[in-house]
Order: sequence, then structure tokens, then C-alpha cells
Amino acid sequence: MCDVGNATEDQGQKIQNHKGLLVFTRPLTILLLGVLLSLAIAAPVVFHAHSRADATILIINAQLADGTGAALREGALRIRNNRIASIGKLSPAPGEQVLDARGLVLAPGFIDIHNHSIDGLDSDPLAETQIAQGITTAIQGPDGDSPWPIKDWIDRRRKNPTALNVAVFAGHATIREQVMGQDFKRVATPQEIEKMAQLTWQAMNEGAIGLSSGLEYEVGSYSDTAELTAMARSAAEHGGFYSTHIRDEADKAFDALVEEIEIAEQAHIPVDHSHIKLGTVAVQGKAPEYIRVIEEARNRGVDFLADCYPYDAWHSNLKVIVPDKQYENPKSVAKAIADLGGPDHLTITEFKPNASYAGHSLAELAKSNRLSPVEMFIRIVREGDAANREAEVIGHSMIESDIKAFYQQPWLMVASDGGIGSAHPRGAGTFPRVLGRFVREKHWLTLPEAIRKMTSLPAQRLNWTDRGVLREGAYADLVLFDPTTILDHSTFAKPQELPVGIEKVFVNGIPVWSGNKPTGAMPGQVLTR
Ligand SMILES: [Zn+2]
Repeated sequence: MCDVGNATEDQGQKIQNHKGLLVFTRPLTILLLGVLLSLAIAAPVVFHAHSRADATILIINAQLADGTGAALREGALRIRNNRIASIGKLSPAPGEQVLDARGLVLAPGFIDIHNHSIDGLDSDPLAETQIAQGITTAIQGPDGDSPWPIKDWIDRRRKNPTALNVAVFAGHATIREQVMGQDFKRVATPQEIEKMAQLTWQAMNEGAIGLSSGLEYEVGSYSDTAELTAMARSAAEHGGFYSTHIRDEADKAFDALVEEIEIAEQAHIPVDHSHIKLGTVAVQGKAPEYIRVIEEARNRGVDFLADCYPYDAWHSNLKVIVPDKQYENPKSVAKAIADLGGPDHLTITEFKPNASYAGHSLAELAKSNRLSPVEMFIRIVREGDAANREAEVIGHSMIESDIKAFYQQPWLMVASDGGIGSAHPRGAGTFPRVLGRFVREKHWLTLPEAIRKMTSLPAQRLNWTDRGVLREGAYADLVLFDPTTILDHSTFAKPQELPVGIEKVFVNGIPVWSGNKPTGAMPGQVLTR
């Protein structure tokens, strides 16, 4: 009915009576309304939308985890349209749909602030592996790589909704390529930096939620601190934040952290340190020192948050392990392999030029080909270069004590760094894994604190006050799960395996996951700042 009302807004005055019904005052309008109503009879979907407008769902006997970190409390929650109408001791209205949630936790929907589903949203708009984890909002375009122009992507996504709410970063590398084209293997000139800052400004105007960078990757790696600061300043002027995959997560992880903090301070921009990790032998176990550097910055007023996926293995391209880019230099390669902890710590997950490598470690491949691990590495690089394809690899090079230390920080958010179709189990397992393993089995953190890291903390980074919390008037993005059974089932061999324990998921008041499968509804919206 709202759409009908809007269509006649120009022709007549309309007022809203106490029942929320639209009352039209001019005869012409009444005539038009009659025409529109008869059209509506021919199209029952309009009436369906109207009857839904007053539909409510009451969830009773739930353990409420409100997203703030407060202790669980038993209560009921009523959904009206796309919002939370009320919370507390509520009894069913006549004819109201009631869900008995005894034994289950009701939490705000999870906000994944680092999600790679740009392509997946088209191929799988029901986003099964995402909603099955309780994700209701997934932020796209991290690691410096975003769609472009931002406006076109947002328009297209609005026309093609999915089960998930989405939002998008402006990518640093994407903008750098807009300005420098293929001539990116150098530091940018002041004029080019000015242009990049302008494009960042434009992207923010078009609806981006911040600037992302991926400084270990080819295009981003040639930028200097001044370039990043200038672009971050543009994003900050629009209330955006800076999400960064820093320049080095290995031997030089401390230098890279210092650069990140410098950018934050100079550009006056809030930060999300992407997938915080210490990924080589030289820095393993140094989480306490890393945390100390971050605490010092926070004490100086730097608005610093980080996210971390709950796995001790990363997923990237083969070449990323050689920081000096000397991929065929035996010395550089030998150091890179040793830094990871040895050739058995690196497993090929996909390699188009020679599919038989997939599923094997570098150590296994070297042995079966009677080569040293260094020779085998160089052979894979050459075969990849000849076909213009790089091998995808998983590196087991983080240690549990570092992951635990990061997870226990109040400024740490849960994010997947995965997405629809991910080759790493984090793409289908992240959120249930934290709740099942880190909370229930290992007691690293409490359930309400884990939920806060999945909901209100990312919402705070995004400057959203009406999502990520259970509060009257907030959007009804909700997840209902069993805290005694929730667990990830995805593995490196079967990365798409769905988790268990998530009973129901609502996006904007509409159930998208129920009875262990998607409902088929696609009520997700494109969100901006
Ligand atoms: Zn990354």
C-alpha cells in the first residue's frame, strides 16, 4: 500500500490516520486510487505485500544475547515488518505466529566485515554457506580490490537482491589502476595521488563504506605511505574507515603495523586491521608484543580494531610467500619456505596448468618428482608463469597461542575473509567455529563476548546504530542457534560443508534459513554509511 500512496503523492494531499492507513483528500486522487486498486486486484502480490505489512512473529523462551556483551537473559522478541518491535516478557497476540526458542540463543545477525562474495552473489544469491553460519550482512571489496564504479555495482545489486545485506569498500588497488593503468610498478606522482584521493572521495559519495587496501598484493604493494594517507583522508572526510591487509604479515609484520598506525593518525581515520596474524617462524609467539604496540596506539587515541579468522592456516597465491619477489632465486625461495616452517606447511589447493598438484604439500610434490622443495617451488612458478596462472595455496603457519591472544582482546572482531565458494574452510565455517570451538570447547571467551565481536563491534566500525544489537526499533537481522551443538564442519578437503546448530536466520524480518536450508527469500539490502 505504501507504494500506491507514493505514486499519488503529487496529485493529492495525504494524511496518516491513527491506524496508519493513508487517507486521501482530493476526488482526483480517489479516482486514481480506484484505478490503482483495481490493478492491485489483478496483481495479488500487492495485497500479499500489504497483508505482510502488519504481520508479526513472536519468538518466545529465547536466551537473548543482545550483542553488547551483556549476560544472556531469557525473554521474548517480536518482529514487526523489518524491525524488532519489542523485547521482554511478551505474550502472543491472537493469531500471531509464535516460535518457541527454548534452549536456543537469539542474537543479532552476524556482520562479516571482511567477505569475498562479489562473484558468488551472482552465482548463488541465496548465499547458502553464508546464511547457514548466521551471517546476515557481508561487507564486500576488502584487500584493496573492489568493483568499479561503486555506483554501478550498488545500482545493480539493488536490482538483484540476495539473501544477505551487503555493503562495499572502495578498493585502493582498484583506484590505483584507474589512475596509473598498467604503469603501476612504481611510486605514484603527487598529481596521481591527488587524482586517487579524488576518486576515493567520489566512491565514498556513491555509497562506499570506507577504503580497503591489500599491500601484499601486486598493485597495492608499490604504493607508499603518503599515497595511502591521502586516500584514507578522503575516506575519513566522509565518515569512512580504513580496512587494511597490511604490507607484511610475516618477518616484517611489526614494521607494517607501525605504518598502518601512522596512516590512521595522519589521516584521522578509524582502522580495521584485516585478518590479524603472525605468519612466519620469526614472529610466531609474538602476539603479546604485537598487542602492546596496538594498545599504545589506542591509548594515544587511535581508533584501532582488528579482525581475525579462527584458523591457523591462510589461503593465498603461491608467490605471496616470497616478499622480495625473487621467485626463481633459490636463496629467496629457500628462506621463504623455511620461514613458513618447512615445505610440509604449504599445500597446493588449485593449479590449472597441472591439476595433479592439488591437494599435495610442497614436500610431497618435491619427493614424488625427485626434486628439492626449492626446485619444486621454482618449477611450479615457471609452469604457472607459462600459462599465466598462479597456484593457489594454503599455508599452515600461524600458532594457536597467538590466535588465542588476539581473540581475547576487546578490540578484536570475528570476520571470515571467506565468502561464497571459498576454497578455505573459513568461507563456510568461521562463525560457528568460534562459538563451538573457542567458546564452548576451549573457553577462550564467553558466549556474549563472542557475539559482541560478531555483531555490535563490527556495527560500531561501520557506524551503524540500528544493526548488530537486539533493541526495539533496530532492524530484525537475527540468528537463532543451539549453543550446545553449534559447530563448523567445513575442512580443507571439503570447504563447502555446512555447519550445524544454526536453527533460523532472519534478514530484515524475513526468514532466510530454516529447517537446515535456505527458505528462498532474498530480502537483503545494499547498505551504505
Ligand atoms: Zn587479505
